[in-house]
Amino acid sequence: MANRICISVGAETNEKVISEIKKCSNADIIELRLDYIKNPNLKSLLKAKKPLIITNRKKSEGGFFPGSEKERLKLLKEAVKLGADYVDIELSSGKKAIGDLIKIKGKTKLIVSWHNFKETPDAGKLSRIYSDIKKLNPDLVKIVTYANNITDNFRVFKLIKKAKRERTEIISFCMGEKGEISRVLTTIYGGFLTFAALSKEKATAPGQLSIDELDSYNFKHLDSKTKVLGLLGNPVKHSRMPAIFNSAFRKNRMNYVYLRFPAEDVGQFVRNFRKDDNFYGFGITIPHKEEVMKYLDYVDLTAKKIGAVNTAVKRKGILIGYNTDYVGAMKALEEKTEIKNRKVVIIGAGGAAKAVAYGIKSRGGNLTILNRTVSKAEEIAKSLKCRFGGLDELRNIDYDILINCTSVGLKEGEMPVDTALLKNVVMDAVYSKTDKDGKTKLLKEAEKRGCVAVSGLKMLIYQAEEQSRIWTGKRILLG
Ligand code: NAP
Repeated sequence: MANRICISVGAETNEKVISEIKKCSNADIIELRLDYIKNPNLKSLLKAKKPLIITNRKKSEGGFFPGSEKERLKLLKEAVKLGADYVDIELSSGKKAIGDLIKIKGKTKLIVSWHNFKETPDAGKLSRIYSDIKKLNPDLVKIVTYANNITDNFRVFKLIKKAKRERTEIISFCMGEKGEISRVLTTIYGGFLTFAALSKEKATAPGQLSIDELDSYNFKHLDSKTKVLGLLGNPVKHSRMPAIFNSAFRKNRMNYVYLRFPAEDVGQFVRNFRKDDNFYGFGITIPHKEEVMKYLDYVDLTAKKIGAVNTAVKRKGILIGYNTDYVGAMKALEEKTEIKNRKVVIIGAGGAAKAVAYGIKSRGGNLTILNRTVSKAEEIAKSLKCRFGGLDELRNIDYDILINCTSVGLKEGEMPVDTALLKNVVMDAVYSKTDKDGKTKLLKEAEKRGCVAVSGLKMLIYQAEEQSRIWTGKRILLG
């Protein structure tokens, strides 16, 4: 059976629910949230053509059922009697209530569920809850927690693997933005299904993905052999990389998936990453490019010289770091201009500047680095043997190529330098999230003055193509 998608449907009236069910053609299973419906008419609802999970959540379990506990359980009993495919009852409903449903369940499959909307408990507690549910002998165990940290997901993956070893059907994942990876990956470890909403606005739980979002990760094609990649950073919510990579993997029929790894604690993430065989590589973005180096087994010589890693790959258990930013920057620039013997000014002295500066020097450019904090420019200048200074000095420098490597421009409309100083070739490492070519205000102003403009989006795409070569052994064209 391909990976199952369950669309959760909740609406105020029976009519609205029936019309929503008709829209669920992409679902394998539909969860009917009785607690959303005023006076649910189970007989007519159960006529749906897809398998249904009947759920009736009380408020303490994140639901809306307004009546008494007795009334709530009565509706679940009625669903079983009417032959619903699946009925979900919470562990907190008590042994007696669960036992009563098991006695009469017939062909209905009983799911006993446990939810925690605040956190993901430690492995010991998760395992105890799992055993408590198993003792009740349901058809499926459901354990859903909340991820406060990306590494919470790994505990849930371990639980799913344990259930798989014990041939126990389990539905398990983490809610919340940081739990997104578990919603996408649960079935590769053996999870019975993942939940999705018809659209983002119709989500019935925190962090629930829409069916289109799930599809963008090629969810239906993921399996136990899928190699998991992603972007490690903080924040990574708005990155274009998952869309770019996953669509390329689909086109090239490659069994990889690219996710977002929003992590604050790099060391903790890397420790968990190492232990999971499906996790294969990651890109690294702000603010972790330098810190990540101390958690890797080996750093490629160029990345060491640059002092930053933006790509990691696990080969035979060894974690290796590379820097592809400089490759991307040089390819984008060389499409538009020669570098050798050109006077190049880089503004900024962070991770991006270090990579671009290395590239310029390796191509024989005549380099000056200017930065707000002059001591940081001086540090790079010392190791690369070039000139340095403060940002004000730009007005006194004659240049052929100007490259913005500050983060100014990330907010639409910001300008890192005085417009009057723009000339010749202008490149921006920053790219616009709204312009289709990624052109920032800096580049638009440069073009108005007749300059040649080089977009940070090109740099991003070309560095990602180099990453694809490192991860898959094949350079995939992404542009
Ligand atoms: P970083 O290490 O945090 O460095 C930020 C740099 O920006 C520092 O030099 C900092 O100066 C400077 N800066 C920040 N705010 C400033 C301000 N208000 N005025 C003047 N200077 C300011 O970041 P990074 O990794 O180098 O990345 C820099 C930018 O490049 C980011 O926006 C990132 O999106 C972009 N980038 C793009 C690509 C791509 O593929 N297109 C790849 C990597 C990075 P101080 O030293 O004085 O703080």
